[in-house]
Amino acid sequence: MAKVLIIGAGGVGNVVVRKCAQVPEVFSEIMLASRTKSKCDAIANDIKTTKIQTAAVDADDAKQVADLVRSFKPELVINVALPYQDLPIMDACLETGVHYLDTANYEPKDEAKFEYSWQWAYRERFKEKGIMALLGCGFDPGQTQIYTAYAAKHHFDEMHELDIVDCNAGDHGQAFATNFNPEINIREITQDGKYWENGEWKIIPAMSIHKPINYPNIGPKESYLLYHEELESLVINFPTLKRARFWMTFGQQYITHLNVMQNIGITSIKPIKFQGMDIIPLEFLKALLPEPGSLGENYTGETSIGCQIKGIKDGKEQTYFVWNNCKHQDAYKDCKAQGVSYTTGVPAMLGAKLMMEGVWMKPGVYNCEEMDPDPFMSQIGKYGLPWHEKVGLELHTSS
Ligand code: NDP
Repeated sequence: MAKVLIIGAGGVGNVVVRKCAQVPEVFSEIMLASRTKSKCDAIANDIKTTKIQTAAVDADDAKQVADLVRSFKPELVINVALPYQDLPIMDACLETGVHYLDTANYEPKDEAKFEYSWQWAYRERFKEKGIMALLGCGFDPGQTQIYTAYAAKHHFDEMHELDIVDCNAGDHGQAFATNFNPEINIREITQDGKYWENGEWKIIPAMSIHKPINYPNIGPKESYLLYHEELESLVINFPTLKRARFWMTFGQQYITHLNVMQNIGITSIKPIKFQGMDIIPLEFLKALLPEPGSLGENYTGETSIGCQIKGIKDGKEQTYFVWNNCKHQDAYKDCKAQGVSYTTGVPAMLGAKLMMEGVWMKPGVYNCEEMDPDPFMSQIGKYGLPWHEKVGLELHTSS
């Protein structure tokens, strides 16, 4: 039985709260806190089975988070606010001796750059304090790393090539919207692409490498090579990987809008003067776009995310694919959410559950592939994200 404090009441926060409330034998008391308390109240009031406490917190301020932790006394803080808040929330956890889990690695506000170094720098302090931080426990990052660890444990003696493939073949009916926080999403895809090859990072202009990939139950979709945060830890934890890449689908309409927005400068994070005030164009754009949590109701179609791996098993070349498909409408039925929030929030709940049950508990700061994948893989289907695997399946990612 554990008390959990969830910070962030957006698309993903809504799913994490609802999924934790479905597992009362582990999450005996739940508090949802965010910058705007009315958003927490709206979610809490809609969950009839469990009483959810709510609070306002500015998680940029470690002291406010620590004060809230001292008053509610949770065993674990689940951070599903934004990557900017990772470090203040980790500071508050250190100060109060409470475990930590998030779904996205730290990014400074004034630079569109993410890397694990800032959070890995907490390793010794978390260990000394006897508390655990599990980083990036959503789908990608998160479940993709658990898939890779599962493949390494059960299907390969040595892994050589990894392609993480992420498709959203859904339709939300909007001319332009992002499936998770627009500011973070646009920062991620407008930066240079990057992949691992033969012991070094190759940098490419944003969206400059693309090709069709054949997704299960969906068919071929144009997929773009992006840099994604889990590649950084995967190539360290699986050093036999000679190549590791991440691919994501984008529709032509999305790309056309993005190009126009970039051309007119509204995706910039450099402040500009507007009517005597400093404003950041991307923050202004975010205020205009639909919130990710609002997209669920009429969303049709499905997501498909998986890991294609090549390597050696019993002296022979082996190809292996492991994946999940998630229908947006099923996500809405279970959690009043669209599929991208859902596929992020469900692994976060299960990671938190395994930590609270002691199955994944060890002091320090860890990425998901450092945990035993088996308990996660045996339970995730039951919570809404069943997976499939196929030895020998080739998805056209061989070049
Ligand atoms: P949303 O924009 O829908 O929600 C973010 C929430 O965080 C909002 O409720 C917002 O409050 C709150 N928030 C922002 N700043 C603060 C602050 N200073 N203090 C307290 N609360 C704050 O985003 P999503 O739910 O789509 O994404 C949540 C996280 O999940 C992000 O970090 C995102 O990168 C990550 N993610 C991870 C994925 C994965 O697979 N690993 C996939 C998708 C998302 P307010 O409403 O007041 O603005």
